[in-house]
Formats: sequence, structure tokens, C-alpha cells
Amino acid sequence: MSECIFCKIAAGEIPAKLLYQDDEMLAFHDIKPAAPVHFLVIPRAHIASCAELSEAHAPLLGRMLVKASELAREQGLNEGFRTIINTGRIGGQEVYHLHIHVLGGSQPLGAPF
Ligand code: 5GP
Ligand code: ZN
Repeated sequence: MSECIFCKIAAGEIPAKLLYQDDEMLAFHDIKPAAPVHFLVIPRAHIASCAELSEAHAPLLGRMLVKASELAREQGLNEGFRTIINTGRIGGQEVYHLHIHVLGGSQPLGAPF
């Protein structure tokens, strides 16, 4: 069995506040939100990070971004939002299962850099 926490969420083995799921991806609220709205979009397949992506993943990643934008709208983020993918130690990645963060709220987010 996978030790990966996001694989466990994808398998329904541990709970998450799901926003969306289909046969290739799911979206759920971050357990420790860094903004009034903060959710994650992940592939069902275990891809450790952005650094492991290959050309074959391109259509999936494109669809994940389209879904992220659609869900942001559904969450009321009509004036914008921020998408983040942290990669590896230097990128501050904590969970090694690729995920797109989507953050937003009613006030502008602080500058990330
Ligand atoms: P990273 O630093 O890897 O880009 O971000 C990992 C994110 O996953 C963090 O924002 C963290 O709060 C979130 N997270 C970690 N464990 C869980 C969990 O079990 N459930 C949910 N919903 N989010 C989690
Ligand atoms: Zn995984």
C-alpha cells in the first residue's frame, strides 16, 4: 500500500473535503489554508513532483489547470487567484505527490517574493 498521503486521499483511505474528482484528478481543500480559499488539484496517478514530468503528462497537466480555474470561479474567486506548484527541497515542497495550489479571497494576496 502507498505511504503517500495524497495517494491515500485519492483512494478514499483518508478523508478530505473534496471539491471535484474524476478518473484522472481530484481537488480538495487544503487542511491548513493559507488564504480564505485554498485548495489543491492533484493527479490520481502518483507523480512525485513537477521535476518528474514528461511530455506524456502535458495533456493531463493542461486539464488540471483548466479545472483549477473552473473550480476557482465556483469558489467565488472572480477577481483572481494564485496558482503555485512547489517543487523539491528548494521549492519548499512538503508532500511529494504533485499538486497545484489555488489560493484566493476577497483581498489581494501578499506579494509572494
Ligand atoms: P507543498 O508544500 O508540498 O506544496 O504543500 C503541501 C500542502 O498539503 C500544504 O499546504 C498542506 O497544508 C497540505 N496538506 C498536507 N497534508 C494534508 C492532508 O492530509 N490533507 C489536506 N487536505 N491537505 C494536506
Ligand atoms: Zn501519491
